[in-house]
Amino acid sequence: MTDAAPPPYPGNPTKGPEPQYPPPGGQPPMQGYGQPYGQPGGYGQPAQTQQYHGQTTVVVAQPAMAVVQQFRETPVHTKCPHCQAEIVTATSYETGTFAWIICLVLCFVGCDLGCCLIPFCVDGCKDVTHSCPNCNQVIGKYNRM
Ligand SMILES: [Zn+2]
Repeated sequence: MTDAAPPPYPGNPTKGPEPQYPPPGGQPPMQGYGQPYGQPGGYGQPAQTQQYHGQTTVVVAQPAMAVVQQFRETPVHTKCPHCQAEIVTATSYETGTFAWIICLVLCFVGCDLGCCLIPFCVDGCKDVTHSCPNCNQVIGKYNRM
């Protein structure tokens, strides 16, 4: 004879299935997603401001004496680096990489049988070589590639 638990009271609303928190199988509540990354102030701390009092480092830009002559298609008036003469460059056209590429492109699109040779005849597809008419030294080149 033991004191058994009293039989459940059917119909008692307080003994019904209680809602479970969290729901079974569900994910735990979103925790930590709203937290900012890193510690507050970890990255935002200003670095040690280094102030140089009285000493202002002035970086003197070197004068651009060495003017890089940009050679284009047209003759340019420049100073020959070889004979130091003021000359206008003599231009001559050479078949360069650009002409070959145009040739290949024309071949791919079916314009072979002579049409692919057009870029070799068009100066606009060739590289331009600038030479000095005084000493016949090549000063520069204009490559289209
Ligand atoms: Zn020269």
